[in-house]
Amino acid sequence: MILEPQIECMDQQKLIESIVRPKLSSLLLRAYQHFPFYKKRMDEAGIDPCSDPLDVLKRMPYLTKKEYCHLERDALLHANRRLYYVEVTSGTTGKPKRRFQSRNDELNELKLASRVMAGFGLSRDDVVVFIDVGDPGIYLWFSKACEAVGVKDTIYYGIQSDFGESLKGLIKLDPTVIFTVPSLLARSYDAILHMYQEAGETNLQKIVYFGEKLDEGFRKRIQYELNVEIFSHYGGTEVSTLGGECPAHNGIHIYTDVNLPMLIQPENISNTVQQGEVTWTTMQIDIQPVIKYRLGDMVQIDSSKCKCGRTSPRIKVLGRTDDGFSLYGEKFYYSTFLNTIYSETNETGFLQIILSNQKAQELMTVILPEKMKSKHIDIKDALYHMNELEFYLEEGFLDLKIEFVDNSYFTGRKIASIVDRRKY
Ligand SMILES: [Zn+2]
Repeated sequence: MILEPQIECMDQQKLIESIVRPKLSSLLLRAYQHFPFYKKRMDEAGIDPCSDPLDVLKRMPYLTKKEYCHLERDALLHANRRLYYVEVTSGTTGKPKRRFQSRNDELNELKLASRVMAGFGLSRDDVVVFIDVGDPGIYLWFSKACEAVGVKDTIYYGIQSDFGESLKGLIKLDPTVIFTVPSLLARSYDAILHMYQEAGETNLQKIVYFGEKLDEGFRKRIQYELNVEIFSHYGGTEVSTLGGECPAHNGIHIYTDVNLPMLIQPENISNTVQQGEVTWTTMQIDIQPVIKYRLGDMVQIDSSKCKCGRTSPRIKVLGRTDDGFSLYGEKFYYSTFLNTIYSETNETGFLQIILSNQKAQELMTVILPEKMKSKHIDIKDALYHMNELEFYLEEGFLDLKIEFVDNSYFTGRKIASIVDRRKY
């Protein structure tokens, strides 16, 4: 279902003139007036925020993950009494990242999220079950968006690593939609498939995933074996929901009347497809808007018209730009590991992280130079207590191995900081 056809099916050129220009202009003025951080940037670049907004946007510098924290103070002051919610996440350097929101921001973001949910074809007859192992926070957001399109039942189903036992109640709940992250789906898939094969007739129709890439082969397998349609939700903490897949399943629709993508050094793939690192400008966010924010994704943007009738561009996420990885939807960064392992020493930090699969578990192998061997126990202990790692290890979702190699392993050639051999 298309929730706002007059916008979602509008000619893109017309949309830019009638909606994007005024919204962008208002954002740039707001940013200049209320955010000393943005004002300084514009002044330094000799940018007049009142001139053509698309031209201003082109000339604005990119906003990096590191710079994002400089927005916090301005945003908090700007929010003042309108402050409604603070979202805190672990940042790239281990320093928490905060996003401040007003009630109005939340309502605007919710509006877009419900357009995305409508794109998945969710309606009042659906029973949506969110399956996860940790913090249900993000699912509160998804459930609000589901409810906004009329879904009557949304259930958070917290599970443990004994999937066969933990997921026992799933068939009884008989969801029409399962909403989860790809790595968890992969680990628990055998148990889920077994249950559904035993159960025979159920109402399961769709699987929605987010937070990570889903391997194409695994996707086809699920589609065939569980006889479901699969949809992807796309977004990020700093930008909220950005888009989702439609029933044509040819990329993720993004909504340019709300969030503007801009590629860094785009490469032309065809007449309608461009590829590069994507930046986002959130025009509807008032308290902590981002302008040309580098979310960390390499994408392809297709501007051709989609079979579903929407004119909004579609993206395909090709990979991440930062040195990071995801475990069960939770983001981890190389730098956090480096800081944890080498926090007590003045050593140059050599480290490689290898991720692989072990049956129903993930295996993380941390490779360190021989000279660190004397600190083996301290390192293991420090890693064990890192962020969410303790939880995953304690609950049996993850196995951790530390291997020491000859020092020359790191100095001889340029080695990849993270090697991800996991297959979903
Ligand atoms: Zn479409």
